[in-house]
Amino acid sequence: MRGAIAINTINNMTFWLKKSLSEMTDTEWEALCDGCGKCCLNKLEDDETGDIFYTSAACRMLDITSCRCSNYLERTRLVSGCIDVRQLNASEFSWLPSTCAYRVLAEGGELAAWHPLISGNVFSVVEAGVSVRSYAVSETQVDDLEDHIIEWLT
Ligand code: SF4
Ligand code: SF4
Repeated sequence: MRGAIAINTINNMTFWLKKSLSEMTDTEWEALCDGCGKCCLNKLEDDETGDIFYTSAACRMLDITSCRCSNYLERTRLVSGCIDVRQLNASEFSWLPSTCAYRVLAEGGELAAWHPLISGNVFSVVEAGVSVRSYAVSETQVDDLEDHIIEWLT
């Protein structure tokens, strides 16, 4: 997940077409995140198959209205299960949602029309129904994660 970032601070507005993920500056990397909030939902893993199941229960640090981390800079220190995606190899992205820009680009895909870098509209993620804003609940309000397993259509 990511904090808010000013897109107009990026010099090359099509950087993702010209650079690999590892070549991107910190600002470019952060701009790639669409702010959907999906990766901040709790997940369950099947012990036998390794399959990952997302739930609607969001990390307690996620501001569900904005879908931003409430303490992005300190996130991995404050939340033991929080993963800094930039520290991963692309081969480790399979647990990310299929819509996640990092996974999409790592798999050779293109950013979706609703991605803010394409639409030019920071609200297009919510308007496209990709954001978790409409259904996420704080993990602090959840007793059993298995009761909150969800499945995305995209
Ligand atoms: S799933 Fe990907 S695009 Fe969505 S908030 Fe997480 S890192 Fe950003
Ligand atoms: S601390 Fe929680 S809300 Fe913040 S980035 Fe990590 S998983 Fe997301």
